[in-house]
Amino acid sequence: MNTTLLHPREQIIMIIDRIYKGGLTTTSGGNISIRDENNDIWVTPSAVDKGTLRPSDIICVKNDGTFEGPHKPSSEFPFHKAIFEARRDLTAIIHAHPPALVSFSIVRQIPNTNIIPQAKFVCGSIGYAPYELPGSEALGESIAKEFVKKHNAVIMENHGTVVGGSDLKNAYERFETLEFCARTILNAKTIGEPRFLTDQFIADFEAQIPYQLPEQAEVSHPSDERAIRKNIVKIVRRASDQGLMRSTYGTVSVRWRNNDFLITPTNLSRWDIQLEDIVQIKDGKREKGKIPSRAVKLHERIYSENPNINSIIFTQPPYLMAYGVTDVPIDVRTIPESWIFLQDIPKVSFGSQFFDKDIIPKKLNKNIPAILIENDSILVTGDALLQTFDRLEVAEFSARSLIMAKPMGELNPINDKQIEDLRKNFLS
Ligand SMILES: [Zn+2]
Repeated sequence: MNTTLLHPREQIIMIIDRIYKGGLTTTSGGNISIRDENNDIWVTPSAVDKGTLRPSDIICVKNDGTFEGPHKPSSEFPFHKAIFEARRDLTAIIHAHPPALVSFSIVRQIPNTNIIPQAKFVCGSIGYAPYELPGSEALGESIAKEFVKKHNAVIMENHGTVVGGSDLKNAYERFETLEFCARTILNAKTIGEPRFLTDQFIADFEAQIPYQLPEQAEVSHPSDERAIRKNIVKIVRRASDQGLMRSTYGTVSVRWRNNDFLITPTNLSRWDIQLEDIVQIKDGKREKGKIPSRAVKLHERIYSENPNINSIIFTQPPYLMAYGVTDVPIDVRTIPESWIFLQDIPKVSFGSQFFDKDIIPKKLNKNIPAILIENDSILVTGDALLQTFDRLEVAEFSARSLIMAKPMGELNPINDKQIEDLRKNFLS
């Protein structure tokens, strides 16, 4: 959806709702603003419940400092104004106290976004603003000084974070990605040492020319194709709402007929994906006028190599990714459900996901439905899409339990005999 066509009030409500439901702000904390073409600034009000905010609650602050609306503007308005004055190219700002970024803020560190390849591009360089009194002009100066250095995101000492964007959706993607990096690093540190990609590695990744399939001349959408389309949209939105997928990353595909399939597009926010965004791939050609995910060639190879796989999800949930960015193996012999659904999850090195490689399509089989790609993603496969999604949920829950258990003691896995019993009773 092109959210910039919505009134600033509606854009703000849409995003604050996502931030609140995503556990990224409290009822009282956090504020969002948009600068419009008249230089008016639309901003969340002071002291109104973030869980029930409506478009009519949003305040418009005029150029001369007067404001219109039923409440007072956010008490943090001075720093929003200072950032907009420092950076003409930014039109939206998000400030909040999301838990992982606050952890970084109180140990006075900046998250290293080289933890996954695309985060550096999404977040840009990150600044650090020394502590000042909330709501003060001095805080505005401290933050604006960092934005002047072309940072688009700033960690606020003993406070939280503030990010800017070319529009609000762009700011939200940056905010969400930065918190994801922070969570992944914290989770990784709980079990081991995170491994970061070098700038060269990331440059190589960016240099990967997206494999462009030829276009179909004609496209038709039979009923079974439309049913798949709906199913993909539902699962992608669900994964986004469950924190299993972010705006800027995640690919879902479902086999249609033979080796034809439908797949998510590239570069569109996952959480508001629409039916018409899904791309049909038929006889190795893409639906006219649409650009499929950059991983389309890999999906194609997985389907042609594995006739039993009928759906695929690639994504980056923060607990599984802790295993993806450390050398610690993930042992899913935690509870029967985890082992039955996943058996063992092998890891492959970064780069195995690129389009000319056969490593992943050949590694998948009946006993290996999921693979971790180092510093990149988890790949989950299955028959029906709901089954694949369930596997993804089980995998993320397992990783989460393992990480939560870490301070309590070592994992006591289900033993070999118990595994053999599970195999006999559930898998043969
Ligand atoms: Zn604050």
